[in-house]
Amino acid sequence: MTNPPSVFDLIRRFDLDPKKSLGQNFLVDESHLARIAAAADLTADDTVLEIGPGLGVLTRHLAAQAGRVVAVELDDRLIPVLAELFADQPHVSFVHADILKVDPAALLTDDGRQTADEPATAPRPSPLAPPYKVVANLPYYITSAVLRHLLESAQPPTLAVVMVQREVAQRIVAGPGDMSLLAVGVQFFAEAKIVQKVPAGAFHPRPKVDSAVLRLDVRPQPAVTDVEPDWYFSVVRAGFGQKRKQLRNSVAAGLGMAKETVEAGLLNAGIDPQRRAETLSLTEWGALAKALR
Ligand code: SAM
Repeated sequence: MTNPPSVFDLIRRFDLDPKKSLGQNFLVDESHLARIAAAADLTADDTVLEIGPGLGVLTRHLAAQAGRVVAVELDDRLIPVLAELFADQPHVSFVHADILKVDPAALLTDDGRQTADEPATAPRPSPLAPPYKVVANLPYYITSAVLRHLLESAQPPTLAVVMVQREVAQRIVAGPGDMSLLAVGVQFFAEAKIVQKVPAGAFHPRPKVDSAVLRLDVRPQPAVTDVEPDWYFSVVRAGFGQKRKQLRNSVAAGLGMAKETVEAGLLNAGIDPQRRAETLSLTEWGALAKALR
């Protein structure tokens, strides 16, 4: 069996300069690529949405295990390259788009093709996409925006396995004491764990920081169900708005409420008003949101 072409072979063959502005740090280490695909527990029944296939090195592993792969890539130079590399794999398709500007599930409803050529007459209900998993070596400049876009979408993935900067991965899996708006935002929708650490040397070009692979098992229901998500996040955002302040001050300032009202709400929720935002669990934020509603 011949070895698949490496990132270096592909860059030479297609005369491509990696674009820093698009976060193009290609993964060159085959063992890491195989382990990312393995972390998604793929079977022939799975549909995978890959974000940023780049030169298709991860796509190759996904295509070998999943029934269908749709990959969305922003760099128009790479679309013909990918089409050529996967020409003999009809279960793999590529969409030229910015992931942040498309509904992720909509990419899967029509063989990955969009229906922009259809006349926009009466609004149609969007057809339901199949359940899907996301696997990606994410462009780091949009990590939080992509996670939010996926998890808050009308039809989120069932599972996401994503490579992110190691420091960001550690922030996302943190517990009470080290919580952040990002950690609450992700953990509200998914159980998060780090499945693999990846050194900077596994990429070309080599980034300045190390990376880690996160596995997000999306919850069937959000972690807190007895409060509306919009209100929940208004309270959480207020708390983290001035995170070095005690909660009675930060939440009051963020929500434009009297300190006394917030203090009473905190006590009602069983939370010491002197605590700071990073110490609260997801459930405690829920209790506070309910008490202040
Ligand atoms: N999957 C490849 C790998 O593992 O070597 C490439 C990963 S590279 C870190 C990120 C990829 O995301 C690049 O190919 C880049 O062009 C693409 N990208 C950047 N911004 C994007 C966006 N907004 N939507 C879709 N793809 C994007």
